Amino acid sequence: MEITRRHAAMFVSPGMGHVIPAIELGKRLAGSHGFHVTIFVLEADAASAQSQFLNSPGFNTALVDVIGLPAPDISGLVDPSALIGMKIMTMIRESVQTLRSKIAEMQHKPTALIVDVLSLEALRLGGEFNMLTYLFIASNARFVALMMYFPTLDKDVQEEHIIKKKPLAIPGCEPVRFEDTFEIFLDPSSKIYQECVPLGLVYSTVDGIIVNTWDDMEPKTLKSLQDPELLGQIARVPIYPIGPLSRPVDPSKTNHPVMDWLNKQPDESVLYISFGSGGSLPAKQLTELAWGLELSQQRFVWVVRPPIAGLACSEYLSVKSSEIQDGAPDYLPEGFVSRTHERGLVVPSWAPQAEILAHQAVGGFLTHCGWNSIFESVVSGVPMIAWPLFADQMVNATLLNEELGIAVRSKKLPSEGVISRVEIETLVRMIMVEEGCEMRKKVKKLRDTAVKSLSRDGGSAHESLSRVAEECERRLEPVRGTARGA
Ligand code: UDP
Repeated sequence: MEITRRHAAMFVSPGMGHVIPAIELGKRLAGSHGFHVTIFVLEADAASAQSQFLNSPGFNTALVDVIGLPAPDISGLVDPSALIGMKIMTMIRESVQTLRSKIAEMQHKPTALIVDVLSLEALRLGGEFNMLTYLFIASNARFVALMMYFPTLDKDVQEEHIIKKKPLAIPGCEPVRFEDTFEIFLDPSSKIYQECVPLGLVYSTVDGIIVNTWDDMEPKTLKSLQDPELLGQIARVPIYPIGPLSRPVDPSKTNHPVMDWLNKQPDESVLYISFGSGGSLPAKQLTELAWGLELSQQRFVWVVRPPIAGLACSEYLSVKSSEIQDGAPDYLPEGFVSRTHERGLVVPSWAPQAEILAHQAVGGFLTHCGWNSIFESVVSGVPMIAWPLFADQMVNATLLNEELGIAVRSKKLPSEGVISRVEIETLVRMIMVEEGCEMRKKVKKLRDTAVKSLSRDGGSAHESLSRVAEECERRLEPVRGTARGA
């Protein structure tokens, strides 16, 4: 008789910041915890550089079943200028019916449904198919604390933060400064506020929240989220820290011109610059960054995208592979590429980031502070220049700079105005020459704690997922009992 296996179905919203960690989570559940894993990914733009990356040999998905769901047409449902989160949530809402049909067709029904932060609409399928439900947060514990706590505040407390700009005190956690708050919380009359703020209440309805972090990365917040005395004030369901979810990489086996170039550079001498899977800068800032790099006289690899006029994340869903080509992009200052070609490399749109950061020639990372980028830097022992653009990135920058001391940052936020070439030159020199050495030691210490967290021998990430597996086992017992009795 076949033993019913624990089976997890995951539903992942588009965007590499969601897809990459979700697939890594799926691989871990399958490889170390005996799950069969089916991952449903909404394909926002199958022709994008990102999709090509997912299908590349370096991104091994052999342990899990990845099923692409066609992205629904949302053109008549959401304003083209709406925030990216709104667009994705609308796509998800329109896709729940397709997901329902896919699950209904499965021969072995999933024991657990795991959805990401923008896919909460799919949670209702949990009850319909008798699945345990988990929320997977690819961001950090602070994000969970803020999302769960904010909707429980009364109007006065919210106004203290939104209008008087006072820091938001969350029980047991670091207060969130006004400048660091996510855009979604700032305008109670906006559609995004009305849609997103109540979502924090949904967090308390799942069987558990899986968070991509670990104790040493966020000691205070994680402790508070798991503190039984604070239960009910912030988290009301079990929290499972399972970080860091980062892909094992081998730069020596990566076939990309950047790797050939890095092989020729001295150890820890190159600054890597990237703004995530879709971030871009306004034209004036792009020019200042180019000049700052040139003035710093340091080696660099820069993943550049055309300047943007509007939102910093306008390419989030569709970085085009056709833009990946040789040659100097015409939006950089005239002569920049030829003047810096001996010590710098410009890569349009997309590069194998995790492999680049793991290369011994890389000694610093100018990052938009996406949570995955931060992890990839930490597990490679690389200190950062924090350049947050939107969403949770400001909170992340504060964590890196003020609490962990593994990043430097500009005096004002990039959203508050253009950072000058002189300040950029200073930041680059700080990380690559002056403070870099001390910070590198700190990051490497943090990296060691990450390795410990992942250990199968009592590591916290492993323990967390073992607890999830045990819950699924308990759910399966009656099913197996019925099968045995039949
Ligand atoms: N990434 C990459 N090459 C690029 C840009 C991004 O491989 O040129 C990957 C990066 O390694 C990370 C993910 O895309 O795993 C971006 O996730 P993150 O959370 O850092 O930022 P987001 O894109 O969600 O803003």
